Amino acid sequence: MVSVRFAPSPTGRLHVGNARIALVNWLFARKNGGRFMLRLDDTDAERSTAEFAAAIEADLRWLGLHWDDFARESDRFARYDAAVERLKRDGRLYPAWETADELDLRRKLQVARGVPPVYDRAALRLSEAEKARLSEERGAPHWRFRLDGRRLSWTDMVKDETVVDTASLSDPVLIRADGRPLYTLTSVVDDIDFAVSHVIRGEDHVTNTGVQVELFEALGAAAPVFGHLSLLVDAAGAGLSKRLGALSLASLREAGVEAIAVDALLARLGTADPVEPVADLDTLVAGFDLARFGKAPARFDPAELEALSRRCLQLLPYDAVRARLPEGVGPAFWSMIRGNVATVADVADWWRIAGEAPAPVAIDDAAGVLAVAGDLLPPGEPDETTWGIWTKAVSAATGARGRSLFRPLRLALTGREHGPDMQSFLVFLTRDQIYARLSNI
Ligand code: GLU
Repeated sequence: MVSVRFAPSPTGRLHVGNARIALVNWLFARKNGGRFMLRLDDTDAERSTAEFAAAIEADLRWLGLHWDDFARESDRFARYDAAVERLKRDGRLYPAWETADELDLRRKLQVARGVPPVYDRAALRLSEAEKARLSEERGAPHWRFRLDGRRLSWTDMVKDETVVDTASLSDPVLIRADGRPLYTLTSVVDDIDFAVSHVIRGEDHVTNTGVQVELFEALGAAAPVFGHLSLLVDAAGAGLSKRLGALSLASLREAGVEAIAVDALLARLGTADPVEPVADLDTLVAGFDLARFGKAPARFDPAELEALSRRCLQLLPYDAVRARLPEGVGPAFWSMIRGNVATVADVADWWRIAGEAPAPVAIDDAAGVLAVAGDLLPPGEPDETTWGIWTKAVSAATGARGRSLFRPLRLALTGREHGPDMQSFLVFLTRDQIYARLSNI
């Protein structure tokens, strides 16, 4: 059974980088008939907030990424305690009392001597008497995981053969002096308890994976299959981290970007497949294959997202947008206008233009199109045939064609240079409105 998780820390808003990880996990689960879990990594009580947690849930729902299972780490301290007891019993955790300043100094000395700044395991060599003294003087210790120090390799779903030599790593701190278990441990305990089969996350976690594979073993569990996605970079190839605030899902949503466009772009970035507009997630599931994701960084371009969002809008059925449309806009108006707006919010402008006469604009009408247009309007309320019959008659009477024929009419009727196809738009005006607009110039 495929079981994956998205495990954000509720210490900020989700950005496109997080969304990509969430989406790829979700698509992987859907594609393989598996389960997708939302797991909040919220053991850091100082930085995690309920507001960020709620915002993460809202952002995922906006993207359409519904979760089958949910957990928050702050509910699971008893499970982490049990794992800690086991690791202590097996001698894999050892207490250490060095302060951050001491460790920092030691690292600097190592660098100055040209040796890798790896924790020297001084605490591992403490005698019982020294430990007693330190705990008297300095209080509770933090606890480090004693790494095996070996060459760990795995076949990564994205990066293929991947190696981490844990001998070159510091024994990681798994429990802080205040007793709080840290991510490296809690994540593994969760992955074991929830039977996570595949861990798909960012490349920045490759080293963690080496450590965590040892932890899975130390806790008597088989490690899941890993896939590390390359990171997102901007169009110039630079890391996105500085700009991620502007690329939060919240700010994209406020800018009117369609969620399905975010999904469509992130489902393809970093693959050799073309980015294509889609109307629903099912289409993305059908076209998803994790093997298509490459090792090179994936370029994220906000302009590409904006353009894709417009193209997705053209595919969206009325039901997908109805809740966000102005009161009164029906399916026919939506079908008519969706190819001519950048965002759903822009529909309001056109709905207003259809309802009330636009402010008069200066119109260059050398051919006198507007002088005869009222008299030549075909009888009855406008339908799909009206525009064609009407403009043919006006052309015959004035000799105007092309731009000199259509532009004055468009400007008089909509107040805009550009917009929807007039044959379709005219249907949303009444005869009286047309007359009023023709005489309002
Ligand atoms: N909370 C971690 C993060 O956001 C989770 C990493 C993981 O997927 O294990 O980076």
